[in-house]
Amino acid sequence: MHRRLLVPGVLATGLMLAIPASAADYTPGAPSIGDSYYPAAGNGGYDVSHYDLRLKYQPKTDLLEGTATILATTTQDLSRFNLDFALKVSEVRVNGKKAKFKKTGEQELQITPAAGLPKDTPVTVVVRYADKPSTVKVNDWTSWVRTPDGAVAAQEPESAAWWYPSNDHPLDKATYDISVSVPEGSQAISNGTLQSTSSKLGWTRYSWRSSKPQATYLTTLAVGKFDVTTDTTASGLPVVNAYSKDLGENGGAARASIERSGEAVEFLETVFGPYPFNALGGYVPNVTSGFALETQTRPFYSPKQFAKGANVSVVVHELAHQWYGDSVSLGDWADIWLNEGFASYAQWLWSEHEGEGTAQELADYIYDSYPADDPFWTVKPGNPGADKQFDGAVYDRGALTLQALRNEIGDKAFFEILKGWPTERAHGNARIPEFVAYAEKVSGKDLGSFFDTWLFQPQKPAGATAKAAGLAARAEAPAKAPKSWKKIADTHDIHDHGDAHTDGRRH
Ligand SMILES: [Zn+2]
Repeated sequence: MHRRLLVPGVLATGLMLAIPASAADYTPGAPSIGDSYYPAAGNGGYDVSHYDLRLKYQPKTDLLEGTATILATTTQDLSRFNLDFALKVSEVRVNGKKAKFKKTGEQELQITPAAGLPKDTPVTVVVRYADKPSTVKVNDWTSWVRTPDGAVAAQEPESAAWWYPSNDHPLDKATYDISVSVPEGSQAISNGTLQSTSSKLGWTRYSWRSSKPQATYLTTLAVGKFDVTTDTTASGLPVVNAYSKDLGENGGAARASIERSGEAVEFLETVFGPYPFNALGGYVPNVTSGFALETQTRPFYSPKQFAKGANVSVVVHELAHQWYGDSVSLGDWADIWLNEGFASYAQWLWSEHEGEGTAQELADYIYDSYPADDPFWTVKPGNPGADKQFDGAVYDRGALTLQALRNEIGDKAFFEILKGWPTERAHGNARIPEFVAYAEKVSGKDLGSFFDTWLFQPQKPAGATAKAAGLAARAEAPAKAPKSWKKIADTHDIHDHGDAHTDGRRH
């Protein structure tokens, strides 16, 4: 938000600029925000500050009815603009007036307001819609998952298009009010704090608020029948956890893991600094998928994550993302290492904390596990490509890179970076080169070739480079798996972002 201070000299110029441009100067907003992996994601010409979603969902029929009110500011003189949305729309209003709209491309809702929208002005867009999201396919895919008692929207890199219209890219974060009416006896779980519930004529409305900037893919909704636990952490954070009533024999292990979220955050605060949000928790719906996702303040966990018993390591991973991924969001999906490298390394630090193997022992194990000709080393964590974005190497080599950095610059500078970066960049976006520059500033070292070797070369760092980073192949006696490795490896299903996605759905 820029407020211009007007002094007399500037005033004249300001008045001249205020003369309305002719309609010919108004141009359409781009149908893309310019992401290098997902050209259809996001749009240009405006910046969203707030989403108000008023929804009603009937699990029996999968009918979702909604009114989305979007507050945005134009960033150019706009003749029309796009939202990303896949559901059937009945009406669009811009600044109160009915607007023309049509579906274009994969999932674009193209909106032409009655009059052009001048640059740098606030705009209110209201979209009314109703559809059955599980039946709406884009490239044979829907991210809306029906469960025996409801439905869930939790996916990466996108899920919004199946339940609300948006500027669907982490570059355009906004605050949210999400109010969902569900049949009495069901609940609606979302991000942030529960502001109110009310019941009327067989329906119950749950109203959730996210008061800090939140990316579209980190915004989640689950409708179903849940056991909800509430608590307050030692530092006063309200905790809301939700467990589907039919988790069966995974229920105990899920609770034994997620009920330790407060403890995990307390640990993570010691390495990453103050928790960036005002709410905390997790939820486990009765889905058949295997992954977990760092949905803001309230991570999503598949029941399968707890099929082998409790796993606090996956909770640490998803909560670490609250700093690395949610508060500091990537600027392009190519920057995925800024999310996954750090969340994985947090699991290594937790292992060290629990006395189940040091980060160095885990690094030695990963380094020795894959010989130089293994395809593992061909994945570049710093730019893996859309098809390898969630490859195991992004996580394991990503964390290995951080241990190498720790050895390269020493504990003092390394932990100063881990804490300083999410503080300096809180609630914003960042690119990998910006992180490299920050690490160079804090450590006082030129790290260009270091990061190039570890993040951007499709081969195993070897010889002197590896030695300098504290790693060297122990040919005769390769490092053994530390005690924590099984739990960390079990969370590797988090790489699998749903069956259809691994079948190659990328755009
Ligand atoms: Zn992750």
